[in-house]
Amino acid sequence: MPADYHTHTPLCRHATGEPEAFVDQALAAGITEYGISDHAPQVPEPFDEWRMLDEEMPAYFEWVERARKHAGGRIPIRVGLECDWLEGNEEWIAQLAARHPWDYLIGSVHYLGDWDFDNPKWLGRWAESDVDAVWSHYWKTYTRMIDSGLFDIMGHPDLVKKFSHIPAGDLTRFYEPAIDALASSGSVIEINTAGWHKPCAEAYPAPGFLELACSAGVPLVISSDSHAPSEIGRDFAKAIEWAKAAGYRETQLFEKRKRRSEML
Ligand code: ZN
Ligand code: FE
Ligand code: FE
Ligand code: ZN
Repeated sequence: MPADYHTHTPLCRHATGEPEAFVDQALAAGITEYGISDHAPQVPEPFDEWRMLDEEMPAYFEWVERARKHAGGRIPIRVGLECDWLEGNEEWIAQLAARHPWDYLIGSVHYLGDWDFDNPKWLGRWAESDVDAVWSHYWKTYTRMIDSGLFDIMGHPDLVKKFSHIPAGDLTRFYEPAIDALASSGSVIEINTAGWHKPCAEAYPAPGFLELACSAGVPLVISSDSHAPSEIGRDFAKAIEWAKAAGYRETQLFEKRKRRSEML
């Protein structure tokens, strides 16, 4: 079973559960490693209401320490962050990266300009938007994030489909620039199983994206994006099937921002 590196803690204000319960579920699910990657602080604060504050970083490391203590060597505990890719944010990300010997950093696009388009609170804005234009904006932004070289794992590649706003026809035109950027950057993508539990009812990214990524030699991890202990390792069997169907034979493990592969 692969590692599960994309998981949250209650510090982000929209996740629940004690570290001990997350570790217990990680052991029960049989994943290789449990990685914690909560929503990173973002300046200027308060930036929004769904992330930890900068002053809560010590509490974050205490939370990770509790997980480690409970695991007691039964499963490796890794630590990273899920960072937001925003225009002009490079310096802040570099600062966060230097704060700690992270095992990995996940880069995610949740914002297009001032709009966190995956937040159900702003669904009305989708109704007023041209879906093709939003997709173009999203994929341009996602590709710039890949090109920044600041992240180890690219989060939920087609999150823009979350509420099922999807352009008609073949989506390859949106995927291709991102695939090219991934291939030349050497960065890793995730299959994020949380998508199966959102209105789109499909893991991120779609099989079409996954096939292109595999053909281009883009390495893979599988993630649950857990916001509660019961979600750790959720739908990994299904995700492994998807990965194999796309041609993948291995997934990646991270330690101190170095990666190695393990067979699927
Ligand atoms: Zn979250
Ligand atoms: Fe996210
Ligand atoms: Fe997440
Ligand atoms: Zn996420």
